[in-house]
Amino acid sequence: MAHDRLTVVIAARNEEEALPRLHPRLRNVLDRLDAIQARVLYIDDGSTDRTWEVMQRLAAADPQIELLRLSRNFGKEAALTAGLDLVAEDSAVLILDADGQDPPELIPQFVSAWREGHDNVYGTRVERDGEGWLKRFTAHGFYRVIGRLSKTPIPADTGDFRLLSPRTQVALKQLRERHRFMKGLFGWVGYDQLSIPYHRESRIAGRSNFGAWKLWNFALEGITSFSTAPLRAATYLGLLVAALSFVYAVIVIGRALWHGDPVAGWPSMMTVVLFLGGTQLIALGLIGEYLGRLYEEAKQRPLYLIQQWLPAREGVSSGPTEAAGASHAHGEATSGRQTR
Ligand code: UDP
Ligand code: MG
Repeated sequence: MAHDRLTVVIAARNEEEALPRLHPRLRNVLDRLDAIQARVLYIDDGSTDRTWEVMQRLAAADPQIELLRLSRNFGKEAALTAGLDLVAEDSAVLILDADGQDPPELIPQFVSAWREGHDNVYGTRVERDGEGWLKRFTAHGFYRVIGRLSKTPIPADTGDFRLLSPRTQVALKQLRERHRFMKGLFGWVGYDQLSIPYHRESRIAGRSNFGAWKLWNFALEGITSFSTAPLRAATYLGLLVAALSFVYAVIVIGRALWHGDPVAGWPSMMTVVLFLGGTQLIALGLIGEYLGRLYEEAKQRPLYLIQQWLPAREGVSSGPTEAAGASHAHGEATSGRQTR
């Protein structure tokens, strides 16, 4: 198998300051890769600042840049999917954050691992700069929980920073679920995986797009997308509560038979009623989480819409592929091509 084509896919939302600093570093690294035709695909995920103008300026100076602009902010996962859909089937993909937190200087290491036969080479953070203890602590906990719940392995402390061989990225394109927990999807496709430890730096500019609430929802997304264990936990909780209630009923009835039934027990009754009400609501909420996701999937909406597509001026551009569900992406992308 040839190992000669690489597409660097970068999703960016409001990264006007970071991109001009990242690109020269990336360019420098790519120029030094030998025997590889490398291209960079920037995706503007509905930025509200001048990110798109910055991208166009970069592309004007570098013929190997391809640009994609989504019709609004669809979120990083959808933006990366849009990017992957545009990558040619014979090219490997390298996913990078726009903010410099994933150092492009490691790309040669990823590429040599790919050349040694690994399909799915991912960066594992050994240290995180510029992130508070709370984020580290919750991230740590999250990876342990999801690692245990998911049937397919999800490596800990691993983000989207990775290289996917051509067959891995082609496989990944076939997963069209709406709720996209990418870390899980990367693991689901399997193939030969390799972890490369790295030091995660601070952002070079701008602010993180992920606040605490977004991260919490992200964690919920991960768990519900890759595990139905919470549903089973609800069943067991129900069984446990039922068993306890039975024991309690025996005690109450026994006491009434032995000692008669003086009307008391309002506190214990309230406790039981409230407790049961609470557990039932929790279980209902859980079912609701899954039902809501099922509803989203059932609607079959496109994962993203393309506003503009500017192919690289150098090298062949594949355009949206059939496997990518061309029905939704193709029309917009074709009109995007005419804009250049
Ligand atoms: N990003 C995106 N769409 C979004 C949010 C983020 O494309 O809706 C991009 C962002 O520009 C960056 C990457 O995803 O390149 C990681 O985002 P961020 O640095 O904000 O997350 P953190 O590193 O803090 O987890
Ligand atoms: Mg970041």
